[in-house]
Amino acid sequence: ERAEYAKLVDLPAVTKDGVKFELFLNAGLSFDLDHLEATGAEGVGLFRTEFQFLSSQTVPTLEEQAAFYEDAMARVGDRSMVFRTLDLGGDKVAPFMGGDREENPALGWRALRLALDKPYFFRRQLRALIRASKSRPLRLMFPMVCSVKEFIEARALVDAEIEWAKKFGRETPSKLEVGAMVETPSFAFSIDALKDKVDFLSVGTNDLMQFFFAADRENKLVSERYDLLSYPALSLMKHIVESANRAQIPISICGEAAGRPLEALVLACLGYRRLSMQGARLGPMKRMIRGMEFAKVSEKVNFLIDSQTTDLRKEILKIIQQSD
Ligand code: PEP
Ligand code: MG
Repeated sequence: ERAEYAKLVDLPAVTKDGVKFELFLNAGLSFDLDHLEATGAEGVGLFRTEFQFLSSQTVPTLEEQAAFYEDAMARVGDRSMVFRTLDLGGDKVAPFMGGDREENPALGWRALRLALDKPYFFRRQLRALIRASKSRPLRLMFPMVCSVKEFIEARALVDAEIEWAKKFGRETPSKLEVGAMVETPSFAFSIDALKDKVDFLSVGTNDLMQFFFAADRENKLVSERYDLLSYPALSLMKHIVESANRAQIPISICGEAAGRPLEALVLACLGYRRLSMQGARLGPMKRMIRGMEFAKVSEKVNFLIDSQTTDLRKEILKIIQQSD
């Protein structure tokens, strides 16, 4: 199978009837980037910058952060790359993070909330990212945004850092794009108001489903309860892609669902065209896309969703088996 995927590396992710997809890589450690060449991904759709922090006993210095980002950028080369700013807290606790234990860490003081309340740390990371990008393009994305106001506040800190760099005669990115993850239900219903404010969006289905179904993604007793292939979840995913298209905001998915064939196919039927996933998922995904008559499958899948079939998963599987 590996040899078969290797043959697809330089071929585009296009269905038999000409619908184009873009496949990206999720990464967080340097070695994840080895997958770029091996899979022919368009670029890195999600770079989880907290990994450097999670493996460090102390807060990485500005220099350490910049060196890490610079190395990653060098390896990604001319491909596109999205750096997600620190997503600490919740299920991602770094060794140096003290503080009181929270009753509900997933709903607590984490990710962008931490960044906005501790702008000193956040700005240090932004400074490191700007420094590392030199005069290349820089794409940033914020995790766990809950409101338009939070996004605007965070973006203002990015602008402040760019001004700071200019003031001190430092290089600034040739192009800056600032995006946000859609991983809270409140933000999923904020997209219309983001027109001309956000440069791109990426749906984090792992957290989005956790919050949507009130089911802890880390707790095996309940995590299996949330099904993306259910009418409520698909209605939400449809609302998100339609809102983004209406507001002309480029949108991708970078949660694990984007790398699972069945889920990805259904999400594609809803209108998603950019998927970011773990390296090992890319080959099988490209093969599935290239083997598909999209229009036919999409019509049937959308009909099923609209008719609110209760066992969607089973019905969709049938459709796929028939089309093989
Ligand atoms: C997500 O929540 O779907 C996501 C991609 O972010 P993480 O898994 O790092 O929380
Ligand atoms: Mg997340």
